[in-house]
Amino acid sequence: MKKLKIMEINVLGTKYKIYVSTPDQDEKLKTCDGYIIPEAKMIILDRNNKSIHQEHVLTHEITHAFLYESGLDVETWANNEEIVDWIALQLNKMFKTTNESLKKLKPYYTKPKEAEQNGWTKTKKFSNQY
Ligand SMILES: [Zn+2]
Repeated sequence: MKKLKIMEINVLGTKYKIYVSTPDQDEKLKTCDGYIIPEAKMIILDRNNKSIHQEHVLTHEITHAFLYESGLDVETWANNEEIVDWIALQLNKMFKTTNESLKKLKPYYTKPKEAEQNGWTKTKKFSNQY
């Protein structure tokens, strides 16, 4: 397997190396556009992928890495390619919508000090229950 290292990424504190290769040099790329070897902390992409598709393949493999590093690789749903692909496709939209809504939310919550002055208890208003 001949491959070129193009970057390193941090997945929940674990370093993963990203490589590009070609189906001629990596047999596995004859049946997929990219793959992950989580035990080796490696992601391999087919360097022949077109740009937008390459971005999706990398996002997909990074999603696998996050699930693996979260210990969720033992869960059936976390190994479901359709779910991993859905997360990879929607991730940026979810991030954008969440950030926009959190900015709009700011005027509608009270800072902890103000809350204490108003007699609100932390457990009532500022617990981490959602
Ligand atoms: Zn996958």
